[in-house]
Amino acid sequence: MAIDIQAVKGTQDTLPRDSYKIRFLEQTIADIAIKYGFGEIRTPVFEYTELFSRSVGSTTDVVQKEMYTFEDRAGRSITLRPEGTAGAMRAFLEHGLYNEPMPQKVFYFTSCYRYEKPQAGRLREFHQFGAESFGTESPAADAEIIGLANEVFDFLGIKNLSLQLNSIGCPQCREKYHRALKDYFKIEQSELCGTCVDRLQKNPMRILDCKSPVCSQIAKDAPKMIDYLCEACNDHFDIVQKYLKEMCIEYEINPSIVRGLDYYTKTVFEFVSDEIGAQGTVCGGGRYDGLAEEIGGVHTPSLGFAMGMERLMLLIDAQNIELPREENCNLYIATTGEKASLKAAQIAADLRSEGVFVLFDVVGRSIKAQMKYAGKIGALYTVVIGDDEIKSGQAKLKNMETGDLQDIKVESIADDFSSIAMQDTVEKLSLDSNFDGIDLGSLLGGNL
Ligand code: ATP
Ligand code: MG
Repeated sequence: MAIDIQAVKGTQDTLPRDSYKIRFLEQTIADIAIKYGFGEIRTPVFEYTELFSRSVGSTTDVVQKEMYTFEDRAGRSITLRPEGTAGAMRAFLEHGLYNEPMPQKVFYFTSCYRYEKPQAGRLREFHQFGAESFGTESPAADAEIIGLANEVFDFLGIKNLSLQLNSIGCPQCREKYHRALKDYFKIEQSELCGTCVDRLQKNPMRILDCKSPVCSQIAKDAPKMIDYLCEACNDHFDIVQKYLKEMCIEYEINPSIVRGLDYYTKTVFEFVSDEIGAQGTVCGGGRYDGLAEEIGGVHTPSLGFAMGMERLMLLIDAQNIELPREENCNLYIATTGEKASLKAAQIAADLRSEGVFVLFDVVGRSIKAQMKYAGKIGALYTVVIGDDEIKSGQAKLKNMETGDLQDIKVESIADDFSSIAMQDTVEKLSLDSNFDGIDLGSLLGGNL
């Protein structure tokens, strides 16, 4: 019986025609993160379930409805990571990174798994760029990490994103706030969804994050955490804002941002777009001073954020931002006959070892079909090697853009190709007045 040739619902493939965009994004973003002193961390795709239920919080949507949890063959409960912070924090504690100078700053690109209703910008397997700063209480660190996310968007030329900022206080000030929330929601209790009735007892702040329209309507006029902050939390929030102003980062205070995971304290923030449909939060994060202790480690005030890569791509597409394409094929060697093909293999090996993108026929097409293929893939130069060329030792190198032909010795294609192509590039640039004053020296020194 034939199998279903279909990806699992809520998952998607990235084909070579698009993957260059992701690679560009990952490289660019990693370079920015490194500049801010973050080092890459890679953690396993699955962890013991308890890590997530303890850290993300047992009353959250993620833990209650969205986790991919299964028993392994030895009966241990395992969960595919629904987010990246818990694994990074687990690794920080397990490897004693708290003995190193603080803060320990890490970034990662990870796949995440949540059993959600698939729609635009919401998948069951999705990808995040995350950054975490472990071991600092200072509001300067809050501003720094917000600055990192902001720089990523700026660098990519993304516009019209709004940075929404809030503080959800610490366990001390939250106690008073929880009481106020309970009093408020009790009156409307009969209207709330079943999950929220439960939350009313266990964790009333979660009601503010409920996606049900009735609950969010009721939540609209609920008391605001920001009015209940203790002095220390209030001061912290003020100083974060001072830094942001100094760094010329625009933001809005949005008291309804509470974030979907339980571990947040004090500063929380989201970068929100109204150009990619209902799933407009491209990046979300905040401080989680109690998380390390919550999962059994030493007290380590920390903070971080995660950016949804698929939502970032939606935004890049919505704003028609062109990401640089990968290099075209520099040279296509068309061949007839085995001898020519063997020669092409040798030339290709030599040129590739110098970093040149070179292809030759590995399908057995006719010369005409090979040339058509070279045109289709956008090869910059072609050369035909057949019996005649092998015999005479002479071939013609064709510049596919100008159509110019020039003689080249078959034996020295590998040696001469780069300098010929470079010479053409220099001539083209010097003809083009837009490139007046360009540093030709650095061009010539660069790799073709
Ligand atoms: P939402 O409110 O949209 O469900 P969240 O609060 O659950 O988001 P976080 O856990 O903070 O999201 O994850 C950080 C980022 O990861 C989000 O801002 C979003 O860009 C992305 N993200 C979260 N869930 C998904 C998903 N199911 N599919 C695609 N991206 C997602
Ligand atoms: Mg969610």
